[in-house]
Amino acid sequence: MSKDPVLVAHGGAWGIPDDMVEAHLNGVRNAIAAGWHALSHGGSAADAVEEAVVIMEDDDAFDAGRGSFLNREGKVQLDALIMDGATLRAGGLGCVEHIRNPIRAARKILSESPHVYFVAEGAERFAAEHGIPLCKNEDLIIPREVERLREFQSRTSEERADLFAPTISHDTVGAVALDRDGNIAAATSTGGTLNKAPGRLGDSSLIGCGCYADNESAAVSTTGWGEPIMKLVLAKWSADRVFAGNAPQWVVLEAMEYLKNRVAGHGGIILLDARGRFGIAHNTPRMAWAFKTTKEETSGIDRNA
Ligand code: ASP
Repeated sequence: MSKDPVLVAHGGAWGIPDDMVEAHLNGVRNAIAAGWHALSHGGSAADAVEEAVVIMEDDDAFDAGRGSFLNREGKVQLDALIMDGATLRAGGLGCVEHIRNPIRAARKILSESPHVYFVAEGAERFAAEHGIPLCKNEDLIIPREVERLREFQSRTSEERADLFAPTISHDTVGAVALDRDGNIAAATSTGGTLNKAPGRLGDSSLIGCGCYADNESAAVSTTGWGEPIMKLVLAKWSADRVFAGNAPQWVVLEAMEYLKNRVAGHGGIILLDARGRFGIAHNTPRMAWAFKTTKEETSGIDRNA
């Protein structure tokens, strides 16, 4: 029997200022439109999350693709992962500097490679060999981010301490989907954290940390301060709790409590199971989110409100 599709997206969890709310809401709504188009034209859950994430990678409002935060050397360095809950196949890549849409390359890894994860030049070579055009790193850099890095680097070390406060920008993007065949998938894409050391990899593209999908449990995408999320393997932790019989919305709230209480972390999470039940939560002041089902389409910037 055919399932009713469901699509959920997020555009990062932090203290999104009022004057940036509209751009973030538009971004997640556009992502939902693109992913839903795929789902309603016979696309799989993996197609839907890929298309949704591409839209947000292309949108300068987010820390993914062009317009991402710069690392300490003034370069964009991108990480992404996509995972298919039906087969557990996954494609991830880290520290790429010349790919506009890392999630497209991740999808190629998922579908065309016996490997699961590529980094740096090897990832770019794989992408190029599989028809993904490479770009210059400068093509991914926008003036807003050059200024943001300059301002950050002009601070004293005490003034830099708030970089990991819950209000500070975390604009990673992600999506989870359920398709008509009853399969789920997840995708997450990021430019990581501002002023990161070259080669630093966050949670977003690591299986089970920033992204996970298994039809038997749940599809999950997280955002927030990557190091604490990684230590808890939070996406898998959450999926396991759905497998154990807990309701998705309860699980995501627990995940945010666990993140805060166990490692003083902060962030946000979206989670969807193969029955179409989903949860959305964040322990930051705001998170851009949106979802669509056959009955309802909603978006917002504060799920706790
Ligand atoms: N989790 C990402 C990282 O630490 C950042 C984010 O979610 O915005 O790389």
